[in-house]
Amino acid sequence: MKRAIRAVALLAGLTLTACGSTPEPGAAPQPPPPRTLTIGIKFDQPGLSVKGTDGKPAGFDVDTAVYIAGKLGVTPDHITWREARSEQREDLLNSGAVDFIVASYSITAARQQLVSFAGPYLMAGQDLLVRQSERAIDRPEDLDGRTVCSAAGSTSADKIRRSFAGNVKLTTRDTYTQCVGDLIAGTVDAVTTDDVILAGFAHEHPGMLRLVGHRFTRERYGVGVHKGDLELQNRITSVIRMMIDDGSWRRALDADLTASGYQPLPAPVVFNAPDQAVAPGDPTTLDPDLVNVTTAVAATSNARDWEGFRSLVCPETADTIDEIVFQYTPQYDKSLGAEIRSAGYTNTVTGVTQTNPNSATFAFHEAFTNVPEKYRSYFKDIDYTGTMVRRNGSWKLCGLAADFVEP
Ligand code: GLU
Repeated sequence: MKRAIRAVALLAGLTLTACGSTPEPGAAPQPPPPRTLTIGIKFDQPGLSVKGTDGKPAGFDVDTAVYIAGKLGVTPDHITWREARSEQREDLLNSGAVDFIVASYSITAARQQLVSFAGPYLMAGQDLLVRQSERAIDRPEDLDGRTVCSAAGSTSADKIRRSFAGNVKLTTRDTYTQCVGDLIAGTVDAVTTDDVILAGFAHEHPGMLRLVGHRFTRERYGVGVHKGDLELQNRITSVIRMMIDDGSWRRALDADLTASGYQPLPAPVVFNAPDQAVAPGDPTTLDPDLVNVTTAVAATSNARDWEGFRSLVCPETADTIDEIVFQYTPQYDKSLGAEIRSAGYTNTVTGVTQTNPNSATFAFHEAFTNVPEKYRSYFKDIDYTGTMVRRNGSWKLCGLAADFVEP
């Protein structure tokens, strides 16, 4: 399966080569065999991808997948759609059962160990869906002692486990449709996952279900590809940029998502995923030194190696960057009590965008661990955006902005 897509990618970009037996001398040239793709999607997420009664799927993820396939030279009638539930995605990619996955699939550091991502192509945020009559649940903090359902293998279930364990009773199901069934039946108090998914369900059950409307994480949807298939990753990343730039992205968003009343976030910055290959002459290629330095910025920060960290910072912005970093590092925040000492954090590079040979930006996601209950609302996850400048041949961190992952 993976071979097939490699062949497709080559055919679409470079040469047209017909496979199969050598034609008889003098025989009319055979048309190339039809190109095909197997794409993993969800079958039951209204607005993103649902399988209609005609068996054809529809929604924003489907439109994105069809656009990508088109640019790879595959027409919709040559796409085989395969259901990819949250928990199945890594296995489907790594077994070669699908060529790629477009299924509300958040780019996370843990998943990047197992699969590669192109994109991102959409930003969403985790939220809560409750019964219309529910008055007491407005934010995740209100879930104390309540029962909440999410899909197994999702970042949403993970977030509840990490940040609200102990207070919230989490049940997991294979799909969000099953969770919604439980919510309607009254066996759970809320369903949690990305707002864009929940908005679709709320729209399907007007007067019965309500989206709470407070995003408390940031989810960047990527197209999952087989781990290390950097050629396909690069190609799809470029196609996503094209989809945003030529207006198709906005048209699909309006047609599929805003009908439910959903208020989408702006188009994401499409970055080169950190495991990007280096192919000379390819405009999506990153300078490998840039990748090394951004990785080192994250590593020195995680190790609290401040000397190492500062050696990577521009002298004129060092003080400002210090201030930002220390403000959000629990152990160094003087306004907090001693009980914060064992709190920790991990920074992961989630993307790097190189705009020209000498400048770039990167995104870090910072997740906190071991934060005592009373400081939980203080230490939300943070998305950092860094500005990198290449001076005298070396990349330096010259600007940093922190963005709490909460509205
Ligand atoms: N975007 C989240 C994830 O990838 C939740 C949605 C889903 O389960 O597909 O886990």
